Amino acid sequence: MSRVYNFSAGPAVLPLSVLEQAQAEMLDYQGTGMSVMEMSHRSAAYMAIIAEAEALVRELMGVPTNYKVLFQQGGATGQFTMVPMNLLTDRSQKAAYVHTGSWSKKAMSEAKKQCDNVVMVASSEASNFNYIPDQGDWQPFADAAYLHVTNNNTIFGTEYHWTPESGDVPLVGDMSSNILSRPVDVSKYGIIYAGAQKNLGPSGVTLVIVREDLLGRRSNLPVMLDYKVQAESESMHNTPPTYAIYILGLVLKWVKAQGGVAGMEAQNIAKAALLYKAIDEMAFYSCPTQVESRSRMNVPFILSDDRLNESFLSEAKKADLVTLKGHRSVGGMRASLYNAMPLAGVEALVAFMGDFAKRHG
Ligand code: PMP
Repeated sequence: MSRVYNFSAGPAVLPLSVLEQAQAEMLDYQGTGMSVMEMSHRSAAYMAIIAEAEALVRELMGVPTNYKVLFQQGGATGQFTMVPMNLLTDRSQKAAYVHTGSWSKKAMSEAKKQCDNVVMVASSEASNFNYIPDQGDWQPFADAAYLHVTNNNTIFGTEYHWTPESGDVPLVGDMSSNILSRPVDVSKYGIIYAGAQKNLGPSGVTLVIVREDLLGRRSNLPVMLDYKVQAESESMHNTPPTYAIYILGLVLKWVKAQGGVAGMEAQNIAKAALLYKAIDEMAFYSCPTQVESRSRMNVPFILSDDRLNESFLSEAKKADLVTLKGHRSVGGMRASLYNAMPLAGVEALVAFMGDFAKRHG
């Protein structure tokens, strides 16, 4: 077996022990004589799997009892629709967004299909989204039905290292690319959502944490898009993505064994510090993001000569360091350092970068 260090932005690296456990349980899950994939979602064995996954989300994230934990389909993109659909009672209500990159843009464009009053309270577009605008510079939004932020910007490599103050306005956080990477005060949010395929498990399941008083503002929504229906049926209104939820549960157990979100955060700080330090110290590389907004999860970096990008990628691949190509809207490279990326992977990348710079600089 040969495993690489996979710096993909998502779907992304999973803990090896999780994959091994899934492999060991693949043909006969705990004496049931079948794979989790083959199991009825209403069976006792499966109900225990989904209940444990929910309990672990609650425990690890400290979810207060007045919040529902949902396992949805449709990805984070589905939440771009569900949030305005469920929270706005008419099209003229204000929906406030902080614009920090491609994903907030997509979130706003879906909201505009539900709402005639989508307001951008701040934007970092003028500097190609290389920072998170200070809340002191935001437009007022106290009359909005909700305020939406993208807590970590996967493409541009910026992250909120603080929680926005939204007063009585429900705060909605897209945590797709940094959930479980650091402690979060869930009580500050009305809704938190995250596609699973970065820090939680495989694609196909989307975690949603929603405060109970936000359920049922609208009636007669399509059942699959109605938080209230999904909450009342405990994510079982229809067949949930059973296998993805099972893997998510294994990942949560692994996070717990790492010391929970506090343990993960300590590892993530160390990994990100190592890589940013290397980028800042070597003249050959530069980082486009402003220091105080730098993401711990997605680290973009630019080579001093763009013509070396292809050699960097092909030589890195030979060293088993893969999926480092940057997103086209930033260029250069991007290393995603999600929870399951071990420190050894970052050390190997930094050593390779030093060696490459020496040979080509
Ligand atoms: N939001 C963010 C911050 C993301 O990184 C992504 C996916 N990369 C999405 C939303 C969209 O997620 P999905 O593909 O699950 O719809």
